Amino acid sequence: MICRDKMVLIQLGRRPAARYSFLPVASIPKGKRMHVNGQDTTADHERFMRRAILLAKIAHSRNNTPVGSVVVLDGEVVSEGIENLPAGSSVTGHAEVLACQMAVDKTGKSLLERARLYTTAEPCFMCSYVIRQCEIALVVYGLETPIVGGITSSLPVLTDTSISGWKPPPGVLGGILREECRQLRAAGHQ
Ligand SMILES: [Zn+2]
Repeated sequence: MICRDKMVLIQLGRRPAARYSFLPVASIPKGKRMHVNGQDTTADHERFMRRAILLAKIAHSRNNTPVGSVVVLDGEVVSEGIENLPAGSSVTGHAEVLACQMAVDKTGKSLLERARLYTTAEPCFMCSYVIRQCEIALVVYGLETPIVGGITSSLPVLTDTSISGWKPPPGVLGGILREECRQLRAAGHQ
């Protein structure tokens, strides 16, 4: 179980002795921390990630890259994204973009500053831009995307604090159900 104290450690960038690996999270704005931390448990993260994994499997069954995403607001899933590429025709059909757009359509952008995005893979540059524009509070992902990821690549669009005019980046929590997400990616490469 992830208690509030552990989440604070995560925000300070220390790696807790757990089976998950956590990336440094130093940038959750103070006003959002209590809300985000007060609700999070490992069981919560895994429950929402399992939903994202299910969506990823649906994407795979449609000959698309197996990635799935959900946006959670106040403990409830408010939108879902099923990757729509490469079989789909939209060049922006990534699961995170689709989930964010649906969340904006359903709730309005202002509420998303206390929302969480769960996604099976670390968001790419494009999705990171969208997440930043939506001002989502916390991004929880399963498996790193080192080449084009917005956190671990050489262009950390999701977490960069130096982009002029952009609000502070979301908090980031990586490695939730990583092995399941790794198997998804492997299935996508077969
Ligand atoms: Zn993307």
